[in-house]
Amino acid sequence: MNSLASVSKKAIAPQLVNYPIVETFHSLQGEGTWTGTNAFFIRLAGCDVHCPWCDQKESWTSKTYPQQSTKMLAEASQKANPFMVVITGGEPLMYDLSPLTKALEKLRLRVHLETSGAHPFSGEFDWVTFSPKPFKLPHKSIYSQVNELKVVIANEEDLNWAEEQAKKVPPETIKYLQPEWNHPESKDLIFDYILNHSQWRMSLQTHKFLGVR
Ligand code: SF4
Repeated sequence: MNSLASVSKKAIAPQLVNYPIVETFHSLQGEGTWTGTNAFFIRLAGCDVHCPWCDQKESWTSKTYPQQSTKMLAEASQKANPFMVVITGGEPLMYDLSPLTKALEKLRLRVHLETSGAHPFSGEFDWVTFSPKPFKLPHKSIYSQVNELKVVIANEEDLNWAEEQAKKVPPETIKYLQPEWNHPESKDLIFDYILNHSQWRMSLQTHKFLGVR
């Protein structure tokens, strides 16, 4: 085999890389544009954004979770036979996601990302949901990648943060305001805001209403 062939084969073959995994599960997407869609979720462990109202605080540390390889994760995703695979966290961009997305792509799986964008962007995705948080500012590499902006709203100040972020994403981005679950009054705040700001839509955490993951 000549050296050029060997290099190009190496570039195409997915690397065997391990990631700390909180859980994988098969459910329906609960939020945003793809609400109600059959999805296999891969939840990576580790997050340094530390939102005070986070509903995944157990995912902040990566130390207590088992490592799973790209091969294991790709095989589990394929076995579930979902419409799409959603890589979430934690904050998945704490890791280089390229080996994982390459392994999923090799199996012709559709791959989505959910991220706060707080770390440099990596990987190849069919859809990127960007949920920026003021507690750790997004890295500039995220903005050109976004398909959907989803801002969690707990109070009026968060609406200013949402507008600030909306100016930085591509113009065709679908923009959502999502009530923070523990601040039910934010639903009314968002309802009234959207009546006066028609570029926004409301996203609800339908999986929580359904009582599923
Ligand atoms: S970015 Fe997500 S996982 Fe991290 S603290 Fe905020 S809500 Fe929780």
